Amino acid sequence: MSQQNYFIKQALLNDGWANNVHLRINNTGVITRLEKNTQITPNDQHLGTVVPGLVNCHSHSFQRSIAGLTEYQVSAADTFWSWRDTMYQHANALNPDQLEAISAYLYTEMLKQGYTSVAEFHYLHHQPGGQPYSSISQLSESIINAANTSGINLTLLPTLYMTSGFKQDGLLNQQKRFGNSLEDYLRLHEDATRHAKNYPQHQVGCGIHSLRAVPKTALDELVFHLSRSHSTAPIHLHIAEQLKEVEDSKTFLGKRPVSWLLENYKVDQQWCLIHATHINKQETKALAHSGATVGLCPTTEANLGDGLFPLRDFLDLGGHIAIGSDGNTCTSPLEEMRLLEYGQRLISHRRNISSDKHQRHTGMSLFSRCRQGGARSIGQPTGMLQEGCRADLLVLDDSAADLRALPPQFIIDTLIFAPNQLLIKDVMANGKWYVKDFQSINQVPINIRYIDTISKLRS
Ligand SMILES: [Zn+2]
Repeated sequence: MSQQNYFIKQALLNDGWANNVHLRINNTGVITRLEKNTQITPNDQHLGTVVPGLVNCHSHSFQRSIAGLTEYQVSAADTFWSWRDTMYQHANALNPDQLEAISAYLYTEMLKQGYTSVAEFHYLHHQPGGQPYSSISQLSESIINAANTSGINLTLLPTLYMTSGFKQDGLLNQQKRFGNSLEDYLRLHEDATRHAKNYPQHQVGCGIHSLRAVPKTALDELVFHLSRSHSTAPIHLHIAEQLKEVEDSKTFLGKRPVSWLLENYKVDQQWCLIHATHINKQETKALAHSGATVGLCPTTEANLGDGLFPLRDFLDLGGHIAIGSDGNTCTSPLEEMRLLEYGQRLISHRRNISSDKHQRHTGMSLFSRCRQGGARSIGQPTGMLQEGCRADLLVLDDSAADLRALPPQFIIDTLIFAPNQLLIKDVMANGKWYVKDFQSINQVPINIRYIDTISKLRS
């Protein structure tokens, strides 16, 4: 990749829209120069409207292939827990090649809709039954390969999963693929890190499945290990997603999950707490002040009947949020942000909940918070058009009717709240164009492989 120069008609920078922006990207995909109010030069390629790419802070890629297949009633009391049984059946049917095919297809969809980075919360590690593959990080390699095929920047979060519940019982049969001792997990983590090392746009962090799946002794040891060997690597965990989880935590740990975590560990900017749906006022305050990011996945949280996060209170206390696709029934960050806002409107009977006197445009407020929080959740220089950041950017379709003659302050609101057509035309990740004219550059082979995979799985 050689150095690239662009002249951009209007670009969304950290302090708002700027015109006639010159952008230089070096041969490793980093923005090395950004200047406003410039003139086009003969070396420049011309771009119209450009905004930063977004981070998906939470994905389980394999779940993409059951999107739409769990939307029927098994019993009148269907819950998250009955959905989980179906998801486990699917998780136990996949081989490494199929996981790679599904993930590559999914990541391509994400790129086309505006995610340029993804944090893959990866707990599918072994063969069905729990026997490791000959390479302990085989399925991590499938994820890395899929990221390379699609072009998305990957934060791989190999995830520690040890017990089936707070009682610390052994794993259920369907969970055997997920399980590791701490020692094996660290070996897997090291192995996956070695495979990712060849790709500077990828990194490896740490996933802790949940407080119900990792006993305190192992968590103590893991957190201590990370503080010594990976002191800046992102640490993500599911927390307080379901009311039953909160009740079980009170029974077995003596505290609500978020309270317990904050009291037992130094939770700070390095941490991203996924969902945190069921938190009380004290937890909301303590979590906001901790510096951790909360990873919200509105479509999945709605799909699974989780509940609604206390968004306005958290933002008023200075809390950081990121957006994630989780079960991957939705792969658009713009739809996630819209649903996040709409959930809050439905419960509060008010409008424009995510905006405030500092940023009155709701779409712009959500977009700014999620691009900054997303970058924070993975500890990567992305989500911003500025010197030193990775060149992750989206070019909008200026020919679309919805964007014609639109004052710039309405552009992001329109992207999020008038989503009747895809308005993202081209996508660059790490300095390379992976989507051009709405098409992924590797779309045809990725589609063929995915269709072949799901056809076999469905038959
Ligand atoms: Zn999840």
